Amino acid sequence: MGMTKCKNEGCQNKTIMKQENMKITNAWISQIVDESINPIFGDILIENGKIASIIEHSSTTPTSTSDKSVINAGGRVVTIPLVNFHDHIYSRLAKGLPIKGNMSNFQNILKNLWWKLDLDLDLDMVRASAQMAVLESIRNGVTYIFDHHASPNNTAGSLSTIANVLENTGLCGVLCFETSDRNGNALSQQAIDENKNFFLNNSSKNIKSLFGLHASFTVEDKTLEQISEFLNIHDVGIHVHLAEDKSDTEISKKKFNKTPIERFKDFKLLNSKSIVAHGIHLTENDYKILEESGVALAYNLDSNLNNSVGLPNFKMVSNSTTVLVGTDGMHANIAKSFKQLFLQLRNSGFSFDDAFSFMINSYFNQHRFVKQFFQDFTSLNIGDRADLIVWDYIPPTPFNKENFWGHYLYGVVERPVKTVIQNGKVLMKDFNLVNIDETKIASKIFEQGNKLFNNFGS
Ligand SMILES: [Zn+2]
Repeated sequence: MGMTKCKNEGCQNKTIMKQENMKITNAWISQIVDESINPIFGDILIENGKIASIIEHSSTTPTSTSDKSVINAGGRVVTIPLVNFHDHIYSRLAKGLPIKGNMSNFQNILKNLWWKLDLDLDLDMVRASAQMAVLESIRNGVTYIFDHHASPNNTAGSLSTIANVLENTGLCGVLCFETSDRNGNALSQQAIDENKNFFLNNSSKNIKSLFGLHASFTVEDKTLEQISEFLNIHDVGIHVHLAEDKSDTEISKKKFNKTPIERFKDFKLLNSKSIVAHGIHLTENDYKILEESGVALAYNLDSNLNNSVGLPNFKMVSNSTTVLVGTDGMHANIAKSFKQLFLQLRNSGFSFDDAFSFMINSYFNQHRFVKQFFQDFTSLNIGDRADLIVWDYIPPTPFNKENFWGHYLYGVVERPVKTVIQNGKVLMKDFNLVNIDETKIASKIFEQGNKLFNNFGS
């Protein structure tokens, strides 16, 4: 275990623990093997950020150890880290704001909350939002974030601001800026430039990007044309809201005589790296386009329930469509959102077998989707990147390949995450964030949140 000076704000005592070698004992290691989960009870040895070896125990009774350098999982379940496929880091300070306008429908919620808030954001607020998102994400075992950002009055450099916060903490991100014509040509062009610049100049091992668009109803054809030209040259997908509210579809049909996804298809914006978020008000043909284009559909059901925009028609989604899960900035608890999807499948008439199949299919499709961006995304096999989370869940009945999903959906995701290790570094141990001074960061966040609060109310 080496100690190096910490250059990042918020590290305790200005030192950071750089763990080179580590041992986790007595873990139910939920490895991904051939598109199934194969739990093994034993120890994980981590060296240089990778899983160096896995030692299976002959008994599933946890052993004790006096070695303080060992992380004793004590019979708890270890899985790959979680991924939030549709987050809005910029929304983090929007708590308890004095909202004055009408919030009676989706368009009014945008106008009187989100489109007012995003115009107020400066880069200090964006940084504070990212710090808050990082703390919440680690606590929820989320170490990979697909973010959809908006700060239209401070566009240039906003993605790097977020990227720096993620990189400093060791999290991975796929970032984009939501291009929209709602604030006029100049700001729309700045958004296009920010996406292009970030994609061309700021990709790194842990930070990737998509091309962000707000939604069909705020993007004109000439803007889609410009984005399409960029996509034709570069290997990049889009990240966009799709048919979240029925108004998106109505406006598109009225203005362009097409549904939003038909528009995107005609501009050749859909590919297997792309994410369309929500997808609630879709036609039969829209579902066919989703399937044929290979675009991934990211569900954000907590947000849909909150905005009262309806829920997707799950039965129309083909098996070959990649279904992802996001939080839409509502919170960082993606496990809760994954469970919410399961519950809504059941509520919409899926049998237990069909709902389980849907969730399992989604889990492995998510895994495949992430690997397009991070080839070394872990499966918890020997030689894989040492990204893993220890859940505070000790299986009360036998735990194996056959009944893993019953444990996962009713046990694991209902419990908090206890320990988080990313790239062989401990980010949280026994519910305590490691080398992060939460009190200090919280006061910085409040400083920016208070500024936003005062601007928002004026
Ligand atoms: Zn969203």
